[in-house]
Amino acid sequence: MSYLIAGHAADLTLRVFAADTTALVATAREHHELSPTATAALGRSLTGSLLLAQVLSKRDQDRVTLRIQGDGALGYIVAEGGRDGAARGYVKYPEADLPPRALDGKLDVGGLVGKTGEFAVMRLLENTEPYTGSVPLVSGEIADDMATYLWQSEQIPSAVLLGVHLDSSGVTHAGGLLVQAMPGVLDSTLAKLEQNIASLGQLTNAMRNMGLLGAVEQALSGLDLILQPDSQALEWKCRCSIERSLASLVYFSQAERLEMIEAGGQEVVCHWCGTKYQISPEDIKSLG
Ligand SMILES: [Zn+2]
Repeated sequence: MSYLIAGHAADLTLRVFAADTTALVATAREHHELSPTATAALGRSLTGSLLLAQVLSKRDQDRVTLRIQGDGALGYIVAEGGRDGAARGYVKYPEADLPPRALDGKLDVGGLVGKTGEFAVMRLLENTEPYTGSVPLVSGEIADDMATYLWQSEQIPSAVLLGVHLDSSGVTHAGGLLVQAMPGVLDSTLAKLEQNIASLGQLTNAMRNMGLLGAVEQALSGLDLILQPDSQALEWKCRCSIERSLASLVYFSQAERLEMIEAGGQEVVCHWCGTKYQISPEDIKSLG
């Protein structure tokens, strides 16, 4: 089960959000048949969208969508998350992959996404026009890009960690940590946080060694961390349905729909989650 924990530290001058998204990212990988590096890229983005929804939206039904367009082989990434814990997303080329980095053996997410491009965040909030902000990519590693976005576009200073680890059996650990600095935060608090995060190392390693909770406690060690007692469930969830897939066929001409009927029906694939819907000739006829 994937979940999110939230809390605060340093006398309310730090807000803390952390997520274990191992199961959610494994499901995303299955749905889209993602390569290992594409799994890490989309997994970090899905986790990032869920953490951003905590910071940038207010209501359960609000949606925060990351659109990352780099010049690498992955094409683009789209990931949508909400405060209700639902996330979905896709990449342009799910099969694209790269060998691990020679330097440290880590998955080369930055290489696959690309170093040049745009990191955009779209907010769909209730009763307001959609709002999009963007910054140029800084590394394509997603977490750095997200922290840069929060600072440059939202004036929110933050520390962001995102990680996905796979072995030959699939996704073993995936998660994220977002610490937001609030007005009035002390320099000594930020220095301590920076030191803690540096010694924590890779988030997925820390999750394997001490679990998400242990990793969060170490990242906020000495900073009077107070966590909310309940965690929130996170899940891979799309809003598609056979009814919506059928409705999408109204955008085809009558001649095109007739061809679909003669061909014995039409398959409609949801680009968000990869689910395939078989639409019957009778249903296509019902569109008129
Ligand atoms: Zn779907």
